[in-house]
Amino acid sequence: MGDDRLGGAKMTYLDSNVLMKVVDSVNTDYKVQLSANHFAYLSKQSLKEDTTKLQPYYLTSSWRVWGDEKYDYVSIGLSEKLPYKSIQQINPSRIAVDIFGVTSNTNWITQLNTVKEIKNTWYEQIEDDVFRVNIELKHDQHWGYYIYYNKNALQIRVKRQPSTLRPKQLFVAIDAGHGGSNSGAGGITSNVNEKEYTLKIAQQLQKYLKRKKIKVFMTREQDIDLSMIDRTLMLRQQDPDFMISIHLNSSGNENVKGVSTYYRYIGFRPLSEKLLDRMLQLGLNNFGNVGAFNFALSGPTEYPNCLVEVAFLSNKEDEQKILDPRFHKAVAKKIYKGIKDWLKSVK
Ligand SMILES: [Zn+2]
Repeated sequence: MGDDRLGGAKMTYLDSNVLMKVVDSVNTDYKVQLSANHFAYLSKQSLKEDTTKLQPYYLTSSWRVWGDEKYDYVSIGLSEKLPYKSIQQINPSRIAVDIFGVTSNTNWITQLNTVKEIKNTWYEQIEDDVFRVNIELKHDQHWGYYIYYNKNALQIRVKRQPSTLRPKQLFVAIDAGHGGSNSGAGGITSNVNEKEYTLKIAQQLQKYLKRKKIKVFMTREQDIDLSMIDRTLMLRQQDPDFMISIHLNSSGNENVKGVSTYYRYIGFRPLSEKLLDRMLQLGLNNFGNVGAFNFALSGPTEYPNCLVEVAFLSNKEDEQKILDPRFHKAVAKKIYKGIKDWLKSVK
């Protein structure tokens, strides 16, 4: 129900064709009932009326836990496609998935030894009609997961820690913020556009990582319009080991300056901390490491990701740095060092 610059806080992202009970209409949203005690708001354009008759209760059935060449999977049989949300937990590293409106009739969890990342999996009936799936991971670092329906079975596809953490074996996605008709912020004295300089910095980073033999995917390499949905779907398809989005900050107060890094999920925090530490070596002010951030590209759970707000275009001192091509190269180098620090810290 809240709102701020990037929209109200989001509860989760859902697969399509999930059954929801609408109980109210509030401006552009429908209020939906997830379970006896839980409600959510869903944009009206995301909902399609359906004639399915709601059942008095829904049940879970058997699970299956297995792995293929690339991922581990947990599949939970349900009598209907029901809403869910997930959270990342650390120490120990776990993925918890709450499924709403369902009661356990799970008496069988088949676990195959083809799994590589999942250490344990079990459930708790935390409320009469809220069912929690716990997935404990072998490694401390979260490498991401993707939740979707396969018929009525809820599937959680878990990404494994890469078998080698040498940078040159990894696949990195870089996102240059804005583009096309979306110019982003403007420079305080120069009138340059954010979109132009995010691309310059992203391209330097691309060049630097390629020189280090790292495989790189760029969401854009030109001045083109690219929606957040386009970027999200493109990144999902590319399936990178991790993603870094480059932006330049702006404030109404021209004295505010410095570098900051952002993440949404706690399991992805370490990357953002290491990147910030290295960026601070460029003599930038510390604007902070920001969690629970409501930026669209911080939303995907599929891969660790970090937004880097390199410096403020609205501050004269930072702007001078942003305009300097030598600074772009220095940023690329520091980001690479931050990546290396992060990989070194992963056990
Ligand atoms: Zn921006």
